[in-house]
Amino acid sequence: MNNKLVYEDMINEVTTLEDINEDFILKIINNLSIKEKIMLKLQGSLEIGKILIYGWKNRLPFYLFKCPDHGYQINYLSGHYMSLHCPKCLHQKAQTTELSLEPPMTEIKIEA
Ligand SMILES: [Zn+2]
Repeated sequence: MNNKLVYEDMINEVTTLEDINEDFILKIINNLSIKEKIMLKLQGSLEIGKILIYGWKNRLPFYLFKCPDHGYQINYLSGHYMSLHCPKCLHQKAQTTELSLEPPMTEIKIEA
C-alpha cells in the first residue's frame, strides 16, 4: 500500500503486545478505508503496518484477521509455517488444565 494509512499514528503508539487489546482492534477497524475492508474480506487478513515491540530488534508487519471463535484479532506471523495465530486461542491452549475465570469474549464485527 502506497497511500498513508489513516491509523498510522495509532500503530506508532504501540510499544508492547499488551497495547494490542480489544480497544486497539476496534479503533483500527473503525478507521479502515472501504478499500481495506474489501481487501480484508477477500484476502482473509490485512497488513496494518510494521510495529516495533519493546525488546525486539526489528519492526514486524502485523495483520488484522478473523478468528472463527474470537472474531477480529491482530497478530504477527509466527511458528514453523509463519502463519497467523489468534492470541486468545493460544492463551486458551496454554490454560487447558486450568479453569478459565475470564468473562465471555465479545466478538468484534465489521460493518462494511
Ligand atoms: Zn481465537
